[in-house]
Amino acid sequence: MAALSPLPIRLAIVGLGKIARDQHLPALRANPAFEVAATVCPYGATADGIPGFVTLGDCLAAGVALDAVSICTPPQVRHRLALEALDSGLHVLLEKPPAATVAEAGSLADRATQAGLSIFAAWHSRFAPGVEPAREWLAGRRILRAGITWREDVRVWHPGQAWIWQAGGFGVFDPGINALSIATEILPGPIELSDAELEFPANCEAPIAARLSLSAAGAPIAVDLDFRQTGPQTWDIEVETDSGTLLLSRGGAVLTLPDGTREAPDAEYPALYARFAELIRAESSEMDTTPLELVADALTRGRTIRTDPFHD
Ligand code: NAP
Repeated sequence: MAALSPLPIRLAIVGLGKIARDQHLPALRANPAFEVAATVCPYGATADGIPGFVTLGDCLAAGVALDAVSICTPPQVRHRLALEALDSGLHVLLEKPPAATVAEAGSLADRATQAGLSIFAAWHSRFAPGVEPAREWLAGRRILRAGITWREDVRVWHPGQAWIWQAGGFGVFDPGINALSIATEILPGPIELSDAELEFPANCEAPIAARLSLSAAGAPIAVDLDFRQTGPQTWDIEVETDSGTLLLSRGGAVLTLPDGTREAPDAEYPALYARFAELIRAESSEMDTTPLELVADALTRGRTIRTDPFHD
């Protein structure tokens, strides 16, 4: 007799914005391990046929049967919502960054452990197809230097997202933390920050550009993040080693090694949900905060440069 497949994990998406609609819903619909049982959106938006609620509290009070939540809100409200979910016995997937501060992320990990629930800091860029082969190729090679260039047009990728410019919104570190999540995955740790320069628009509480000096096992890493890039967009990590240069481009989708270039279709979010299902079934968690710590260090250590006001 064929083995019965486990019951689907009943999940609510909390925060029905751009990333929830573009990536989470399609990945979940294609994965039989999950059933999207509810969505939560403060202005009452819903997604075709799925029961929608204005707050997570409303959803819980309505008695919707749930096993897990995916928190896809801006980072400022993530900690409170994740605690509410954990305290209601639900496993939690956190969109990146996992919280607005390192201490918040730590307290969520502790609470999940105490409750015997899974929590997953979902660094989606680590699931880009070039990242694991890059990590394997770099293992055992001596790193001489690395450069990270993450330059994109905020008006194209984050139109109207006021939260990104508010305290706790991360500004250019919203995409930049993706680069740091890849770097901390493929380079030998610990990665340390020695210097940073941050450009804050006169009317914003978060930076629009940042230049960081990092090092990994003594090798310098220069980081250039900018939200004002028009024309071609750049999401590149270049690593020079004692046996040639590696280039990860297009955010980890394309890997160029001395013997050629390889590219695979994007499947970051399907892989992310496959991992979340594995963690839940294994009663385990994954809560790496190193990319968030580097951003916190940059904001603590960095020199501030005031620049032109930003208007969307
Ligand atoms: P977004 O389009 O602004 O969506 C966020 C959604 O969360 C909005 O619908 C917002 O509603 C809702 N929300 C705010 N507070 C809430 C609460 N207390 N309860 C429930 N929902 C709440 O932003 P996004 O681009 O999807 O980004 C969300 C997160 O995903 C960010 O951390 C970002 O770094 C990450 N992410 C984004 C992308 C991307 O390409 N956009 C890619 C990967 C990861 P209101 O509009 O009513 O406030």
